[in-house]
Amino acid sequence: MLNPDILKRFKCSGCGECCRWGGSVLLTDGDIRNMADFLGLKESDFIAQHTRLAPNRQQLALLDQADGSCAWLRGDHCSVYEARPEQCRSFPYAWSVPKGCPELDKLLAEDGH
Ligand code: SF4
Repeated sequence: MLNPDILKRFKCSGCGECCRWGGSVLLTDGDIRNMADFLGLKESDFIAQHTRLAPNRQQLALLDQADGSCAWLRGDHCSVYEARPEQCRSFPYAWSVPKGCPELDKLLAEDGH
């Protein structure tokens, strides 16, 4: 967990870097409802067309693009931002964040990390 002082100073610049990291964007039932609604799809169609079984074999995750970035990333922008999953909303507060977010890297460097 990041230092609360750093979290207070963190401001997302919307660069889309965290959407390019490997791993899974895990989905809750609420995420699936919200995203299906947002896209005007039935939940079963959303699941069939836009999700895969996560490596934990207990949850669904969003699909990736060939380069490993999230399927919903267009340029630097999330194309489902208003309906993005909880995992995305909780960045970086609930993440064990590796280096790679330019804004966090800057704050960590200022703090001598
Ligand atoms: S759903 Fe949007 S915010 Fe979440 S990883 Fe994909 S592009 Fe990024």
